[in-house]
Amino acid sequence: MKTATIGYPRIGAHREWKKALEAYWKKDITEETLLSDLKQIRTENLKKQQGKGIDFIPSADASWYDHMLDTALSLNIIPKRFRDLEKTPGLETYFAIARGNAGAVASEMTKWFNTNYHYIVPEFDSGTLPALVNNRWSQAYLEAKAEGIETTPVLVGPYTFVSLSKGVDSISEQVETLKPLYIEVLQKLEKDGAQWVQIDEPIVSTELDQAQMKSIVALYNDIKAAVPGLKLKLQTYFSSVAQWSILKEAKVDGFGLDFVHDGEVQLKELKDAGFPEGKTLFAGVLNGRNIWKTDLYEAKELVSALSSISSDVVLQPSCSLLHVPVTLQTEDKLPDWLRNGLSFADQKLEELIALKELINGDATKADQQQSAIKQLQEAPGRQSTAVREAVAALSDFDRSTPFEARKLAQKDAFNLPLLPTTTIGSMPQTKEVRQERLQWRKKEKSDQEYEQFIQAETKRWIEIQEELDLDVLVHGEFERTDMVEYFGEKLNGFAFTRFGWVQSYGSRCVKPPVIYGDVAFDEPMTVKESVYAQSMTSRPVKGMLTGPITIINWSFVRTDVPRRDVALQIALALREEVEQLEANGITMIQVDEPALREGLPLKASAHEAYLKDAVEAFKAATSTVKETTQIHTHMCYSDFDAIISSIDALDADVISIETSRSHGELVSAFEKYNYDKGIGLGVYDIHSPRVPSTDEMVANIERALTVLDPEQFWVNPDCGLKTRGETETVQALEKMVEAAVKVRTAL
Ligand code: GLN
Ligand code: ZN
Repeated sequence: MKTATIGYPRIGAHREWKKALEAYWKKDITEETLLSDLKQIRTENLKKQQGKGIDFIPSADASWYDHMLDTALSLNIIPKRFRDLEKTPGLETYFAIARGNAGAVASEMTKWFNTNYHYIVPEFDSGTLPALVNNRWSQAYLEAKAEGIETTPVLVGPYTFVSLSKGVDSISEQVETLKPLYIEVLQKLEKDGAQWVQIDEPIVSTELDQAQMKSIVALYNDIKAAVPGLKLKLQTYFSSVAQWSILKEAKVDGFGLDFVHDGEVQLKELKDAGFPEGKTLFAGVLNGRNIWKTDLYEAKELVSALSSISSDVVLQPSCSLLHVPVTLQTEDKLPDWLRNGLSFADQKLEELIALKELINGDATKADQQQSAIKQLQEAPGRQSTAVREAVAALSDFDRSTPFEARKLAQKDAFNLPLLPTTTIGSMPQTKEVRQERLQWRKKEKSDQEYEQFIQAETKRWIEIQEELDLDVLVHGEFERTDMVEYFGEKLNGFAFTRFGWVQSYGSRCVKPPVIYGDVAFDEPMTVKESVYAQSMTSRPVKGMLTGPITIINWSFVRTDVPRRDVALQIALALREEVEQLEANGITMIQVDEPALREGLPLKASAHEAYLKDAVEAFKAATSTVKETTQIHTHMCYSDFDAIISSIDALDADVISIETSRSHGELVSAFEKYNYDKGIGLGVYDIHSPRVPSTDEMVANIERALTVLDPEQFWVNPDCGLKTRGETETVQALEKMVEAAVKVRTAL
């Protein structure tokens, strides 16, 4: 039995990749140095996989920034505004598309399926002339070959690529224009001597209809006919294949399938419809997106079921290891019982080998692993009876007063003007703020000194907000680096790694917390900061929390407890915080859920169950307050069609969402839905330092008021202001208040 990886982390064990990229952008290193640094990381990654004994090692899975952008540039799909930047598009064009330049905004960035990885959205327009201008796949294959390593080059398949692009009228027609280019790439690889290539088509795990699936089969039959000597592995992940009985007819040489996410469905489909004879089943049996050690005995059983369906099974992770950190080797601060139960990318490679050995009759490593898992299972904090009972007892998720009545009570209690102005929570986290925190973490500043600094900053910003005449204030979130980490550090059941970085977008990496135990409230997390801020003003200051779904979606979550229960555990801990804020005089509490949408499963048929759990978790956290306590929430996207009724079901008194870049579209979504609760559609974009004009914001407000009632509309920026500078923030907010007043007085 053989083993395969289908993608390996690009960032390096110490984020060498990030450092190289950022040094290049700052012009600290030359293009030549950048390229050689990246090559070194690639080569080390290949050698590592070879050294562990993996049979099928991927190449071309590395990237300068993002694999979708690599593909686009190689196929000459360049947005119009960047087309003439260079004679031969190179790094300058590439990074301009990714990050924008002085003359043009960057391409849109969006989440890769239901992960927290963001890809750059390719843009087609009438002037797009697809052509193979750079065969990066052949280069990667030959580069590895020169190191003596035979690899499987990885490509994003044309159907997925086009489906995820903008400006495409007909997916199938656009795919036809790319087909000859893919064939050209593959013919070169065939000549280079490649034996296998892996073509990723995760789109087949979304809800495609029969006609679409048939056109994918036809596409691969055409491709295969053009490269008879090259073996094609059609790879998908994140869910089961939507129409397996159709897809299995594709004349490729192997299928890579995910048996972890919706694995039972996938297995059943294979049992029912069969697996084509003589082809290789690349079986994703280890979770490529989580960091827990696998029960190898369970995996062995799965493999034995698969072996009765196909005579050629290759063991692999469920998806690219891009989604997990590189290695546990440097995690010297975790307790043994936890560390030994974890598996990062390098450990997953070892697990593949251990599984292979177990199947071949040598249980040594598998048994070691089994005892580590057992030790973790029995560890302190893993299971709290009180927490389990509280979750089991949850039954009523509703507020005692319905929105209609709360609205009136809150109107009296707050007496806000029409179109009240507010912000989303964070104020500029200047270099000074970050430096102060760093010194405190390094123990160069005492707790008291740090606290004093945070208070002074909060006070200064309460004064600024009063001066600006905002109606509802925030404390500014100066005490937080990250909105999930901050709460994770204060709740029971969370652990933090030292170097557990995962690429989020471009050079930006995140270090997701690890939820290993039952989550419980320990002590107040935000009360001191909120109460302090509120004590300095007579205007309401919003309490500011991160919601349960966002916390869970941005963490590595234990798998021995249902996800829904983990979310409810977090919700109950947050409920305690909400109640303490209320008891201490905080009258408005915002619970942010920016990650609610990204957790949507790949298949629409699974959305309802996910959303029901999400709504209940949010309500469990927020529903026990009195009728005059106003619950706010915030989300960072405007793609609401699939979820608007769930947003409504959250029963938050006020929601703020990011919309300034897509105002027209969004307003119409609300027009159709007839949303009646408080709502603030962001009136300016916070992603750029540009200060918008009053008139622009007036126009945004007026457009919204064509479908929303002035009684329900709030005026706020798109998102938190922590990445902005102070001067531009004050100027923009000044104009925002001016715009609100202008529209308000004309009403
Ligand atoms: N309250 C948070 C902030 O303002 C919200 C951040 C977010 O939506 N991602 O920073
Ligand atoms: Zn936001």
